[in-house]
Amino acid sequence: MKLDCRHVWEHISEYIDNTVDATLREDIERHLEHCEICSAILDSTRNILVLTADDRTFELPVGYSERLHERLAKELEQDSKTE
Ligand SMILES: [Zn+2]
Repeated sequence: MKLDCRHVWEHISEYIDNTVDATLREDIERHLEHCEICSAILDSTRNILVLTADDRTFELPVGYSERLHERLAKELEQDSKTE
């Protein structure tokens, strides 16, 4: 199964939490190797989770992921248009 970016975004918090199954984890890692967008998301998501973990809250800022996904979806659209 080949993952697209949206698929990775859906599972990225589970990936960070280590709750994805091994097969999916491998797929995500393979995707991250060649996808700068998802690598950047992983980094920023991880940073936010680390910050909130210190306060023992595990919620992302309200609307954070929605806004992020929206922006990324637009960038992806633009990418496919220029090709
Ligand atoms: Zn991607």
